[in-house]
Amino acid sequence: MQLVLLRNNMKILIVEDEPKTGTYLKRGLTAAGFVVDCARDGRDGLHLALTDSYDLVVLDVMLPGIDGWEILREMRRADKQTPVMFLSARDQVDDRVKGLELGADDYLVKPFAFSELLARVRTLLRRGSTVTAFENIKVADLVLDLPHHCVMRGGQRIDVTAKEFSLLELMMRRQGEVLPRALIASQVWDMNFDSDTNVIDVAVRRLRAKIDDDFAVKLIRTVRGMGYVLEAPGP
Ligand code: CA
Repeated sequence: MQLVLLRNNMKILIVEDEPKTGTYLKRGLTAAGFVVDCARDGRDGLHLALTDSYDLVVLDVMLPGIDGWEILREMRRADKQTPVMFLSARDQVDDRVKGLELGADDYLVKPFAFSELLARVRTLLRRGSTVTAFENIKVADLVLDLPHHCVMRGGQRIDVTAKEFSLLELMMRRQGEVLPRALIASQVWDMNFDSDTNVIDVAVRRLRAKIDDDFAVKLIRTVRGMGYVLEAPGP
């Protein structure tokens, strides 16, 4: 199975005139690890969408100045192929169809749960994500060397299996994020999580023995009842 993950610091533009919704989205997406810009009206939104480079644009439909439809139209006219997700309070089928016809990639009706938005954002970004294969990922003195498919800690090479490499890649790309067992199961083993199996726990234990046991600073932590997190301990 090919592990497709998001690179760090993906940039999202939110165009939303409702301050409360805008702030809520910005806070949530920033906490999820994205770099977020916010525009409060259509003109600023269009300007940013055309001049800056984003991995995704989240567009409210009803905006002062220029509406969301027009922003998308102008973006596509300028050959900006950035994925666009519409947010709209209007839940008419017509609007949804219009959005998709104009080339929107997704359409979410307000009110929505943040978790739903986040899941869809990740799906869209994954779909458009191409820049993942040739880079190193670092957490403290742990380095995942993707081009050479090897793991180093403190300058010392560590031998891992292919599954352990995928597991480590997932944990390092999403460093600081508590990863539930079910998510690890679906991303690394491509299977549904069955709580009777201890496959994940065994794999994490083995990985820990390799990357943490011989080092004073431990990077992988168990979060009881939730899952596992890999992060550099704070100062
Ligand atoms: Ca609005």
